[in-house]
Amino acid sequence: MRYINLDKLRMPDGWNSRSDAAAIAVAAGSSPDDYSSVWRELKPSMAVLSDSKCWYCESSIDRDDNAVDHFRPKNRVFDAINPHQGYRWLAFSKSNFRLACTFCNSRRIDIAFGTAGGKADRFPLLDESKRVYANGPIEGEKPELLDPCQIEDCELLGCQQENGRPCAASEATIEKRRAITSIEIYHLDRDPTCKRRHSIAVGLISDILDAKRLFELSQSDDDKKQDFVKVAKRIQCLIDRDAIYSGEMKYLLRGQRSERHPWMQKLLEA
Ligand SMILES: [Zn+2]
Repeated sequence: MRYINLDKLRMPDGWNSRSDAAAIAVAAGSSPDDYSSVWRELKPSMAVLSDSKCWYCESSIDRDDNAVDHFRPKNRVFDAINPHQGYRWLAFSKSNFRLACTFCNSRRIDIAFGTAGGKADRFPLLDESKRVYANGPIEGEKPELLDPCQIEDCELLGCQQENGRPCAASEATIEKRRAITSIEIYHLDRDPTCKRRHSIAVGLISDILDAKRLFELSQSDDDKKQDFVKVAKRIQCLIDRDAIYSGEMKYLLRGQRSERHPWMQKLLEA
C-alpha cells in the first residue's frame, strides 16, 4: 500500500457544482447511486495519482476494471451495531473516494483457493461506540481498515518473502489487528495476487543478494562499483511508487537492512 495524497487530485471543470447538486438531491431523499456519474467522472484523475494501480492492493488495473470505492460506505454499513443507512452525506465528498480493483471492491469468494474478501459495505471501527450515524463530524471514528490516504497506515502492511502472502508489518496489538482485518476485507490474500507478489519478491531478494555481494567487492575493487550501481537501480525500480506491490517490496527491503549495507536505507529514503 502506498500513500495517496488526495489534495493532488485534479478536478474536472464544474465538478464541484455537479457534486453539490447531487448531494442536495440525496439529502432530499434520492439514492446516491442515481448520481454515480459524479464519482465515476473522477476515475481517470484518481488513476493518475496511483499510476493506474489499485489504491488498496497495488495491482495494476485497466480502465474498465476499476471502481470508485466509498471508504465509508454510502448505502449500508455491514459492521454497524445498529441499522445504518450509509454515510450518504459523504457520497460525493472526494475525501471519501478510493480507487479500487474489482477484487478489493466487490465481495467475492475464491472457491479454488479457499479465500473470500472484497470490501463492499464493510467498514469496521476500532471502537464501535464512536460510530457516526447522521451527518456530523467523523473525526472521532477510528477505522479498523488501513487507509491508503493516511500516510502512517501504509507501512503497516508487509508480505512474506517465501510465498508473497500479505502480513502485518507491526507486532503492536492495534496495528497488527488493523493489518489482519484489512488483508481479509480487501482480499489481499487472493491466491493469484499472492503469486504475482511472490514472483516480484523472488526477483527483489535475488537482486538484494547480488547487490550485497557487489557492494562488498566494490569496497576494494573500483571495477565492481558500476555493477553494484546497476543492480541497485533495479532494486530502486521495484520499490518506486509506480511499481506494483512496491509497498510490500519496501517492507522486504527494510527487513534486509544492516550496518554493513547503508545503501539500502539510502534507497528507501530516495
Ligand atoms: Zn485491489
